[in-house]
Amino acid sequence: MLKSGETLSGTVQIGTEHRGGVAIEWQAEIKLSCSESTGRQRTVGLDAIPVGLLLFRLSISGEEVLCHSNGHRTFLSAGQNHVAVRAAMKERRMICRPVTGIILNLWEDWNLNDMNAGCAHQNYVTKLTGDEPEIGEMCEVCGFRYGYDFLVRPLPDKTVEQIEGLLR
Ligand SMILES: [Zn+2]
Repeated sequence: MLKSGETLSGTVQIGTEHRGGVAIEWQAEIKLSCSESTGRQRTVGLDAIPVGLLLFRLSISGEEVLCHSNGHRTFLSAGQNHVAVRAAMKERRMICRPVTGIILNLWEDWNLNDMNAGCAHQNYVTKLTGDEPEIGEMCEVCGFRYGYDFLVRPLPDKTVEQIEGLLR
């Protein structure tokens, strides 16, 4: 497992889509970094995280690349395009790799897991309704004001190992 101060990153192919006679490659830039808690961070449940505890951050961003017959590559889109990847997969437009579903699930569930603008309750409502609270809006359960802090959803050890497996 990663140690504090270490980062593991890489580009992983997600799948290929044939669109109007050209090949589009989808790929994901995956980055996992590890640092020690300074004691200032809190979880989305508003629990204090003890000083020195290892915190893992997952960051994933996607790239949609047009592959020309002469070998040149043009980047069509990049960033948080997992909705487009999921749609291409569901509609069977994309030839997937065995890891495609795993990467999409990690991306949707854990991307920027230490930068939650909302508490667990607010995140739950957002997941159900798609509506994000206004900045400063207070949670009726715990009183957290949306966007006033970055809260952490600690990555389970099993998930850290899964990500490391994809990158090693
Ligand atoms: Zn709350």
